[in-house]
Amino acid sequence: MQYIIIDLEWNQPLSHQSSIFRRVGDRLMFEMIQIGAVKLDEQRRMKGSFSRLIAPEHYLKLHPRIRRITGITQEDLSDAPRFAPVLDQFIDWCGEDAVLLTWGSDDISVFQQNLDFFKTKKELPKFYDLQKLYCAVNKDGKDRKGLSAALNFYGIPVTDEHPFHNAVDDAYYTALVFQQFPDARAALNHPETARQLGKTRNGKREASEEKAVKSERGYFSSSFGKLIPCPVCGKKGHAHEGYVIHRGIKTALADCPDHGLMYAQVTFNDNEEQLIAKRRVYLSDEQNPAYVTTKHLQWQQKATVQKRGKSL
Ligand SMILES: [Zn+2]
Repeated sequence: MQYIIIDLEWNQPLSHQSSIFRRVGDRLMFEMIQIGAVKLDEQRRMKGSFSRLIAPEHYLKLHPRIRRITGITQEDLSDAPRFAPVLDQFIDWCGEDAVLLTWGSDDISVFQQNLDFFKTKKELPKFYDLQKLYCAVNKDGKDRKGLSAALNFYGIPVTDEHPFHNAVDDAYYTALVFQQFPDARAALNHPETARQLGKTRNGKREASEEKAVKSERGYFSSSFGKLIPCPVCGKKGHAHEGYVIHRGIKTALADCPDHGLMYAQVTFNDNEEQLIAKRRVYLSDEQNPAYVTTKHLQWQQKATVQKRGKSL
């Protein structure tokens, strides 16, 4: 058996109001732009790697946030082949008797939706979830451990040679974690199935909630403040980049794995008895490219300010 550790990157629409999203969004929420993979043999020895960019055919403009996280540029994608030939190469490269291993279950859902959307007849090997296996092996009550937590746990350093958040390098680190598990075959106990990704069915695109807090600072450092619930499905996304002030209001961005970019705005109301934090969360429907560009600049400034030893 060959173990293929895979990691994908995908693009998302700049706006859910765009004509292209209105046309294809219920069938293509996210469009794949990179496949990274590492191959291990039965004894979990590394046998090769696969890394291909894919030119998007629908969400042509790379979302600034995806660019920032992955380091992929618009120019990189313009020279890349399309989905169908890359898929053929990938399936050939996987070879016979292969299984696909991922960290978490988002990749299979996005991959399956791209396969269906592009009407490919190709069948992928079966998917298994290493994150679930890791959590089963290292029981501490949490079922969604990040890859970086697993790297820390096993004392695996992240090196400049393999920068984090590049698909093939993330697959490489996932493979290093996989090599640490006592029993490789135990991965086969955690099969994955694709979730249906789609536009919001009920039209709900925003939600708000209130919470009594001791202080503003306490709110932003609490897990409640850092984890932003999707207004559609309730899944929580991490506000990795923190909150920044936009038009006088603290705002943050986070991802829902099924519904894409969300943004949150938090205001405080001191009614003398207690301090109430009110948070509104919107799907990126309201988002326009100018807003994202503004945010992008703000984060760069924030990073610079922090380097000077000040905090926002
Ligand atoms: Zn959601």
